[in-house]
Amino acid sequence: SQAVAVPAYFLVILFVTRLLTTAGRSKPWSSSQPPKLQTLDFADKLRADPEAIESASSDYGNIVHRKPAAVFYPSSTDDIVSLIKFAYDNYSTPFSIAARGRGHSVRGQATAPNGVVVDMMSLRKSKNGTGIRVTKSPSLGSYVDVGGEQLWIDVLHATLEHGLAPVSWTDYLYLSVGGTLSNAGISGQSFRYGPQISNVYEMDVITGKGELVTCSAKKNSELFYAVLGGLGQFGIITRARIPLQPAPKRVKWVRMLYSDFSTFTTDQERLISVNGRRQSNALDYVEGSLLIDQGPPNNWRSSFFPSSDIPKITSLVNQHGIIYCLEVVKYYDDHTQQTVDKELQELLKGLSFNDGFTFQRDVSFVQFLDRVRSGELKLHSQGLWEVPHPWLNLFVPKSGISDFNSGVFRDIVLKRNITTGPVLVYPMNRNKWDERTSAVIPEEDVFYTVGFLHSSGFDGWQAFDDQNRELLDFCDKAGIEIKQYFPHYKTREDWSNHFGSKWRTFKARKARFDPKRMLSPGQMIFQ
Ligand code: FAD
Repeated sequence: SQAVAVPAYFLVILFVTRLLTTAGRSKPWSSSQPPKLQTLDFADKLRADPEAIESASSDYGNIVHRKPAAVFYPSSTDDIVSLIKFAYDNYSTPFSIAARGRGHSVRGQATAPNGVVVDMMSLRKSKNGTGIRVTKSPSLGSYVDVGGEQLWIDVLHATLEHGLAPVSWTDYLYLSVGGTLSNAGISGQSFRYGPQISNVYEMDVITGKGELVTCSAKKNSELFYAVLGGLGQFGIITRARIPLQPAPKRVKWVRMLYSDFSTFTTDQERLISVNGRRQSNALDYVEGSLLIDQGPPNNWRSSFFPSSDIPKITSLVNQHGIIYCLEVVKYYDDHTQQTVDKELQELLKGLSFNDGFTFQRDVSFVQFLDRVRSGELKLHSQGLWEVPHPWLNLFVPKSGISDFNSGVFRDIVLKRNITTGPVLVYPMNRNKWDERTSAVIPEEDVFYTVGFLHSSGFDGWQAFDDQNRELLDFCDKAGIEIKQYFPHYKTREDWSNHFGSKWRTFKARKARFDPKRMLSPGQMIFQ
């Protein structure tokens, strides 16, 4: 249902009318002026019909709803260049523009109120997009060039055809490359390989001036580091070059349960320290989560345990209120399948999980990486994937994680008794993150990611927001210097606090690469 069948002038009139009636002071052109847009090549790629507007007004969070004036369906990188250049060259206060990948943000980050949302997914269908191209070079080894619009699941399948794969992932793969690189892209591999933003060789970026720039650590490095973790503020990523390694065929996947938090974190920290330093024969993935005494396991991560073991796990959870689940993975392939069990045993030696509470599965590499998908499809079929998601994701410094457990998990979460969906808690090594990127993490060498991945009823998300606020207040009072991941703030002061020592650089980069402050207004940083 693309716009090509509709006369271009009709769309332009709709688009212009909406901008004129809703854009207030930042209206892009006056009514007496014949819209220049009519003459432009890309006009027929704009849609302002209700279906298009609706599709770009919200996101996975389903809490924030902000209408754009129009949605742009590019069929090439040049189309996006033309749109941004048009806005930049013709208006002192241009309409805003937001790239929308999969729209899997949770607080309207990919919206553009009264502006134009660029539907990056339309590039996936186009032959003119970057696509996914695997290459081997003498200097860089194997890498893949992927369009910013591509989904990680497609990157996985395309690279596996060459027996290769990227090393750093997210838990869920139906996210766009541009979307995760604008945040960080973290999962259980991050302790060892760093987040996805630590695993990029080069990018093509269209800046807020409409310039298409190739950047890397060596070339246009200021733009390169600005864009990585840059919340879409400095440009639209149209290509990323990502290193590849030989892909394993299968994985040993182990979960171990702990009733004592300090034992759990001591083991997690030991694992990421030892394995984070090793080049080979190391664990490939370390995560963790909570099992909370709040009814039956109710989320898309709970299908791991054999049903025959559920009664004994439930009884352990009932007894303690919260149980901590350590999750690790070791990859293997044909030539290591004889030795992997022994290696795994060695790597897990000395861990102090509760006796008898270790569970193991052996699955293919793809089944493991794509593990969230089956839960997603199940929730879709029950109409439960589209509900509001009042998520809160934090980075908690190691020094505060014990207080966080007692003050947040034990006091707030257990007492409120409303938590639904996974609660993740796992540590990462700061030295795997590049200080020069825009991403913000705690100052300590080891910090935890804690994710409250709530889903709520359509009217019930405020209760989760209250809980989120309460726990943020707790951290504030307890002096735990958390940083939000997928930050959501409304005032300039909060943003300045969030970025801390990086705020000056962040503002200077904005002035340089998007001086008219057009890009990603839904983040609410400069608007
Ligand atoms: P969108 O929501 O479309 O956009 C996010 C921001 O990036 C917006 O500001 C947008 O304008 C900007 N943007 C989008 N595309 C581009 C581009 N090409 N160039 C520049 N800016 C762009 N994250 C993790 O790190 N690890 C996880 O394990 C993880 N699991 C998730 C599981 C689920 C079920 C969901 C819903 C989200 C998960 N996320 C995870 C969060 C996810 O990484 C972010 O929400 C990410 O932004 C989603 O990508 P997207 O393509 O949907 O981005």
